[in-house]
Amino acid sequence: MSLWTWATWPGCDMVITIDGPAGAGKSSVAKRVARELGIKYLDTGAIYRAIALILAEAEIRPDHDEYLREALGKISVELGDGKVLVNGFDVSGEIRTPEVDGLSSVYSAIPAVREALLGLQQEQKNYGSIIAEGRDVGSVVFPDAEAKFFLTATPEARAKRRFNERRAKGEEADYQQILAAIIQRDKNDSGRETAPLKVPEGAVYLDTSDMTEDEVLQFILDKVREIPEK
Ligand code: C5P
Repeated sequence: MSLWTWATWPGCDMVITIDGPAGAGKSSVAKRVARELGIKYLDTGAIYRAIALILAEAEIRPDHDEYLREALGKISVELGDGKVLVNGFDVSGEIRTPEVDGLSSVYSAIPAVREALLGLQQEQKNYGSIIAEGRDVGSVVFPDAEAKFFLTATPEARAKRRFNERRAKGEEADYQQILAAIIQRDKNDSGRETAPLKVPEGAVYLDTSDMTEDEVLQFILDKVREIPEK
């Protein structure tokens, strides 16, 4: 398994993590924090999505441990410029479907998958300051991060955001179906044994149900700017 992100960047000053369930607004805000601070953005969900897509396409079932480990050894994921490439193929669009939403939460519960990805994610801090976003980035991947956040919102608020996003892209969307899928994914992500979704120790907990994206951004930037310089 290999993971390529951005060009080598000497030294690391700061790691910021944002964890939380689907639809809590992590990605949009993490991208904006990265732009604002001029640091790199690590979308760990995109990696799990890419891997789930390739494993499902290769018809490797989640319980086929031997095939799974062999396949993981041959996968290369590249992230950069808002694109996700698996073994050289651009899968940026394909990984953002409701089907891959479900597949990613099934494959990401497998310890072999998480093991294969842990070191690769951790290495990313060797290439400069980053903001990493996911389900276990503050608890498992970067437990010593300088700033940790846990963003959440009610399932209804999160489903409404997803519904509006899909509609805005001109895609078909059914609110009740989206809500049911979000509740199922929360259950999978929080209930798994390895690296379950939880509030990391030392994380700032933020319920974004009644907050705008700008307010969340400002909140995070204010907290990050309070960190004393090293
Ligand atoms: O964040 P996103 O919705 O793209 O993540 C897709 C899925 O990948 C999540 O539902 C979760 O199952 C898995 N994931 C994970 N650990 C992470 C990031 C994502 O298990 N750090």
